[in-house]
Amino acid sequence: MNRFGYTRASDVAEAVHAAAGDDAAQFIAGGTNLVDLMKERIAAPSRLIDITRLPLRAVKPSADGGLEIGALVSNSEVAYHPEVVSRYPLLSQAILAGASPQLRNMASTGGNLLQRTRCYYFYDAALPCNKRAPGSGCPARDGVNRIHAILGASEHCIAVHPSDMCVALAALAATVHVTGPAGPRAIAFAEFHRLPGDAPERDSTLQPGELVTAVALPREGFAAHSTYLKVRDRHSYAFALVSVAVGLRMVDGTIGEARLALGGVAHKPWRDPTAEALLRGQRPDDALFAAVGEHLVRDARGCGHNDFKIALVRRAVVRALQQAVAGGPRA
Ligand SMILES: Cc1cc2nc3c(=O)[nH]c(=O)nc-3n(C[C@H](O)[C@H](O)[C@H](O)COP(=O)(O)OP(=O)(O)OC[C@H]3O[C@@H](n4cnc5c(N)ncnc54)[C@H](O)[C@@H]3O)c2cc1C
Ligand code: SF4
Repeated sequence: MNRFGYTRASDVAEAVHAAAGDDAAQFIAGGTNLVDLMKERIAAPSRLIDITRLPLRAVKPSADGGLEIGALVSNSEVAYHPEVVSRYPLLSQAILAGASPQLRNMASTGGNLLQRTRCYYFYDAALPCNKRAPGSGCPARDGVNRIHAILGASEHCIAVHPSDMCVALAALAATVHVTGPAGPRAIAFAEFHRLPGDAPERDSTLQPGELVTAVALPREGFAAHSTYLKVRDRHSYAFALVSVAVGLRMVDGTIGEARLALGGVAHKPWRDPTAEALLRGQRPDDALFAAVGEHLVRDARGCGHNDFKIALVRRAVVRALQQAVAGGPRA
């Protein structure tokens, strides 16, 4: 039996205090990922700090005209919130493309950001894995790697980040608010998740003991021209092989501003500002969209089974941009 302590925190300061000085303690929110990891003996926290009673369940306007989503707001509540549906439909679509209604009811905003990879080897405690046991090796590189990364991987890890919601948040250029032993700070979404490098055991730039308190969306939600396209093995209840989040601001038939992020291809949601720059100031057409897709995979490398993702990104990017120009996903 795995023994662990349990603390139920009633406010943010108490949660941060409980985590301070114990790097093996972990916060627990919906538990939809962490409990599975504990059952499979992939995670063995010394202490669970239950944050479900913290006052982080509000969705409220922010001073800059955007929207702030508390870390404990469930994925369902975010997806169906009237302000999100009308102003940030990209985020709503991305969340509803993930998991199942039951899971989305339990899963929290903070937990979605920090869910762990779905690499098969990571989930098999009998096998080596640099992310689970640093220095033990990466069997995925020469193994079954159909779901793995084609961009930003390292020799130490080729895992991908599994979240749908985070791909939309990357395209929207959200900000993550955290607080920890050193006090509160804000992290730009592009800086929140990290590439594996030589430390694949670290998924994010959170410091020990830091708690996510909220995610802030900027004023611009690209509501009129956005889409989330998720390509997967089954139409529901499957993680993305490749996904594309697009937000465009159209001005007199020209692309005034463009945001594009990819999911299922890297250790973090993949946003490439040079690809977005190719779109800016241009009139939309398929040749331009194909050039953007080509540009996005210019440094892509497959490991064998996942080579197909390179061609899939090219095509998915074209289709997602077409959909965004047309005003959203096709029925
Ligand atoms: C069968 C299945 C299918 C799924 N399909 C999809 C899918 O298609 N797309 C998708 O995007 N997701 C999918 N998911 C993942 C699901 O979205 C996540 O499990 C969920 O979002 C995690 O949220 P949680 O609140 O349950 O996190 P928990 O399990 O409670 O925690 C997860 C991690 O986050 C940390 N944590 C939680 N809250 C905070 C906080 N506020 N601050 C700091 N750390 C925190 C915990 O310590 C833990 O490390 C699926 C899950 C399952 C089980
Ligand atoms: S890809 Fe990463 S998570 Fe998967 S086996 Fe290799 S090191 Fe582990």
